[in-house]
Amino acid sequence: MNRPAAGSRPRSAASGRVTLHRGDITTDAVADAIVNAANSSLLGGGGVDGAIHRAAGPALLVECRELGGCDTGDAKVTGAGRLPVDHVIHTVGPVWRGGGAGEAALLASCYRRSIEVADAAGCAVVAFPAISCGVYGYPLQDAAAVAIRAVRGALEVHPGVREVRFWLFGDEAYAAFERATQPPVG
Ligand code: ADP
Repeated sequence: MNRPAAGSRPRSAASGRVTLHRGDITTDAVADAIVNAANSSLLGGGGVDGAIHRAAGPALLVECRELGGCDTGDAKVTGAGRLPVDHVIHTVGPVWRGGGAGEAALLASCYRRSIEVADAAGCAVVAFPAISCGVYGYPLQDAAAVAIRAVRGALEVHPGVREVRFWLFGDEAYAAFERATQPPVG
């Protein structure tokens, strides 16, 4: 069971536009959009999906029902109900099947598409959880490397998005993303 580490201390990472935060993504009142690691039905689930729906209230599910689901690697936008942001962007990460089933490309696509959708919706600051790193079983360090690379690439293409804020639950997730933001030594 992953639990949030105490506190939430912003930390600038190497790119200057990716910051790391500890704890519950639904507390982020700085972002314009929060990304949800949803399942393909978009009708709610456990983990961060459950937390986002609980915090947003029933209006979010009403909007999600209109969307007709979402493919793995794609992203769709709604309002945010009672959350202190303008939008929730729902993306569907891949289930980890050992790495040979296109998981890395699909995970990268989640981050790229979410930033594309955020930019189109006029969101300059976007909060992400560690997509696929919970129930979907993606190894944290591999997922972090894919996430940071994909986000940096997408930020180059979408300068309207000024900051990506990663919310990490627990020390292990935070450490994995911290390592992934650091340039290799030597
Ligand atoms: P997936 O099905 O994509 O694996 P999960 O919600 O099971 O999605 O987990 C994704 C990541 O989000 C995991 O690292 C999990 O610990 C983390 N997480 C769960 N709840 C929250 C929350 N409220 N805020 C931020 N991260 C969360």
